[in-house]
Amino acid sequence: MFDRLLTWFGIDMGIDLGTSNTLVSVRGEGIVLNEPSVVAVHKNTSKVLDNGNAVGWRAKEMIGKTPGSISAVRPLRDGVISDFEITEAMLSYFIRKVNSSRIMGPRVVIAVPSGITAVEKNAVIDSAERAGARRVYLVPEPMAAALGAGLPVEEARGSMVVDIGGGTTEIAIISLGDIATSDSVRVAGDDMDEAIMSHMRNTYNLTIGEQSAERIKLEIGTATTAAIGSLAAPTIEVRGRDNVSGMPRAVSVTAEEICQALEEPVHQITVAVKRTLERCEPELAADLIESGMVLAGGGGLLRGLDTVLEEATGLKVTLAEDPSTCVARGTAEYLENLEEFKDSMDGSGGA
Ligand code: ADP
Ligand code: MG
Repeated sequence: MFDRLLTWFGIDMGIDLGTSNTLVSVRGEGIVLNEPSVVAVHKNTSKVLDNGNAVGWRAKEMIGKTPGSISAVRPLRDGVISDFEITEAMLSYFIRKVNSSRIMGPRVVIAVPSGITAVEKNAVIDSAERAGARRVYLVPEPMAAALGAGLPVEEARGSMVVDIGGGTTEIAIISLGDIATSDSVRVAGDDMDEAIMSHMRNTYNLTIGEQSAERIKLEIGTATTAAIGSLAAPTIEVRGRDNVSGMPRAVSVTAEEICQALEEPVHQITVAVKRTLERCEPELAADLIESGMVLAGGGGLLRGLDTVLEEATGLKVTLAEDPSTCVARGTAEYLENLEEFKDSMDGSGGA
């Protein structure tokens, strides 16, 4: 009852703490923030620039304009928290930004990768509390993704979700509101970008930046040559620095060669999906013959990835509607049902 009264003063907030993007939703309002999980820090001191405010879009802007002594940090890059302090600074900034005018700290539901350790879980809870959260609840990211994708997670039949983010791919088979089998691998969108960078280096002696590599992937990237036909233009001009002369140079690359460059990360994702299926209970596996699997996360948007996974598993593969926001929409569902869920969730004590 008291808790219910408190919600009049404090908001309930859901956070998709992604390796590439952080999305925040507010109960009753939907998604209110969607920013890159990037922090700008002083190279020498690792202090966050601009009094802790150089986070998200602001960090990206500053990085473009202030060369030299600052660097861009993605504290969750590989799905593990590589830097607790910077992660905390980032969470704190996003929570303050959404909760700015309230007197009372929010209750916060945070979706975390299913593979994180107990130590990392505690660090996320502590960070959110220090950032002003009144209460913190953790939900496994694949559960949130499945809910956001509209899968019937509470039913007594298997549902499968593959959430491909920047740093990690989370695969889960869910039944009766619980994860029956899951896997989390550190191969996802970033590895596709890196594969493109090394292709450019090996084939053209050209060094390109991460952002250029991502742009190539978004514009002409495919998981199978069968998807190349759907492209508006199958070649793209790529600019970088020549490794021999050190001078800027532009080359033209084709969708075929990018498809080939992406083969390895796509293969690794496929292997992980098959491995999860092999470990799944036979009854649940049988259900998947009808329901298939759903792709979520930005990485799920790679052209032809659905076809590749269909061919590898024999199951029907569907791309979730608006895959990049599935987890955030899933955390929003948890918020709507917080009174019902909260006692069964990992999280902080305190009032
Ligand atoms: P995270 O949850 O780890 O923050 P997201 O779900 O936001 O990650 O996905 C980010 C990844 O999705 C990035 O690697 C990005 O390049 C990739 N991505 C976004 N759109 C597309 C697209 N259309 N095709 C291929 N990859 C995409
Ligand atoms: Mg994600």
